Amino acid sequence: MISEKMKPLVANNSAIRAMFEEGAKQKAIYGEDQVFDFSLGNPNVPAPKEVKQAIIDILNEEDPVVVHGYMNNAGFPEVRKAIADSLNRRFDTHFHEGNILMTVGAASGLNVILKTLLNPGDEVITFAPYFVEYGAYVGNYDGKLVVVSPDTATFQPNLAELEEKITPKTKAVIINTPHNPTGVIYSEETLKKLAAILEKKQKEYGSVIFLISDEPYRELAYDGAVVPYVTKYYANTIVGYSFSKSLSLPGERIGYLVIPDELDDAENVFQAASIATRVSGSVNAPSLMQLVIARCIDASVDVEYYDRNRNALYNGLTECGFVCTKPQGAFYLFVKSPFPDEAKFCELAKKHHILMVPGSSFACPGYVRLAYCVSYETIERSLPAFRELAKECF
Ligand code: PLP
Repeated sequence: MISEKMKPLVANNSAIRAMFEEGAKQKAIYGEDQVFDFSLGNPNVPAPKEVKQAIIDILNEEDPVVVHGYMNNAGFPEVRKAIADSLNRRFDTHFHEGNILMTVGAASGLNVILKTLLNPGDEVITFAPYFVEYGAYVGNYDGKLVVVSPDTATFQPNLAELEEKITPKTKAVIINTPHNPTGVIYSEETLKKLAAILEKKQKEYGSVIFLISDEPYRELAYDGAVVPYVTKYYANTIVGYSFSKSLSLPGERIGYLVIPDELDDAENVFQAASIATRVSGSVNAPSLMQLVIARCIDASVDVEYYDRNRNALYNGLTECGFVCTKPQGAFYLFVKSPFPDEAKFCELAKKHHILMVPGSSFACPGYVRLAYCVSYETIERSLPAFRELAKECF
């Protein structure tokens, strides 16, 4: 008999599986190239060649006992130092290896920090639309996810509502920039305003409110857009990073947390997070991948590839009447549904072999998400199908 906590997760998983099965079914009937599956955020751009070379070199050159062995739960010190140095070079920060904790991707990083910080009943605030797993992650530690409603004009965070929703029980606020599912990047101005609200509320309640910045898409920014480094604006910031998208390594499960010295009770938080890594069952981030990261710290996937897709899909969709904000980063387009009920739009799209995710899955009904981490040819082939779909909508 499964636990009560797992039951809603199992029910939700059935919906995801149904979409996955629909894709497989349509591909079997119409052929791979006639189904336009924009539902999954799985990078299709290969990892840069430096990654393969680093794996080969490490296996040839380094001691296998070290390469495949346990290490400190926080990760190899030289890898953490390489990451701190790289951040300092790029963002003019002052981190050292003691601020960097290696994690099993961003998902594990978020779980580790929530396990470290939350007592049962603590509130964690996030902004709709949001990555649906946040609810499960907060629930894992008996916290309560509090959702701020979306500002659909800009998809920047609704700060007035944030201020209203902060209570003495608020332990953390999660932001995600560049953003899944809208592709917006939080501006410096937004971050300064957000920081001012958190400072004010900390004083008012005599509490500590942590800002958790979930940043798996940091490197995917277009048109020269700047992604401000959040620790510069608010002392109690923890950054969760991942190489899943920046190096196209989602299956390798590698990322890190930044726990700055300026953070309230920083030393204890870092030590507790190392222990949380151990007792949550990860023990440590994958050893070979940590060593690869240290050697590939300046490598990147081909962001131009995603950019070409972004322009082709955005232009194609807006030309036939669909409405969406042009994404500044990540690899998603968040499109307004022509009908109030976006499930109807998704059903209609399926008839044209177009698969997309309803906005309700991100607590933002009335919209749909298209992941453009697909081949450019898929986008080109899909545009006539979108034009046919538009004829049925407008
Ligand atoms: N956070 C957001 C906003 C995401 O979109 C994802 C994955 O798609 C994750 C976290 C988890 O990423 P990872 O593969 O690094 O665990």
